[in-house]
Amino acid sequence: MPRTAIVPAKNLNKQAKIKPMTAQIRAEAHPSRGPCLMAVLRMAGLRPTRQRLALAELLFSGPHRHVNAEQLHSEAETAGVSVSLATIYNSLHQFRQAGLLREISVDASRSYFDTDTTDHHHFFVEDEQRIEDIPTDSIRIAGIPDAPEGMAVTHVDVIVRVKKVS
Ligand SMILES: [Zn+2]
Repeated sequence: MPRTAIVPAKNLNKQAKIKPMTAQIRAEAHPSRGPCLMAVLRMAGLRPTRQRLALAELLFSGPHRHVNAEQLHSEAETAGVSVSLATIYNSLHQFRQAGLLREISVDASRSYFDTDTTDHHHFFVEDEQRIEDIPTDSIRIAGIPDAPEGMAVTHVDVIVRVKKVS
């Protein structure tokens, strides 16, 4: 691809290779497909411990969402799940490594985790410290550089930072 090519964001999916296994796991995790979280964890190579199942329930039993570790920790407490913040961090990273979550780093010390692992981009609402999806058709990415020798571009993350104006 020439360096100056304009790539509609929606076509990035076709370029980044998505592992079929991951796609299958996502399909099973979708609420309309009747989630079986134990099977989802097993297929992702994670032992379905009680804590992992409880966290997976919080993360994957509804529509796609974005959370950070602190939010998930407080949701777990509300749900009566006894789990330390350190365990939440570990579990989020295990889910990410298994392809069940995508990590979005807003800055060096802050990450959000997205249950939608397909290629898409985000607004970061600075005043509210939250992220939300940018509609796929409303962003175009121009001039993706060639990957360094021996490497391939896996995906492109765009974070558009916004704040309220009054
Ligand atoms: Zn998202």
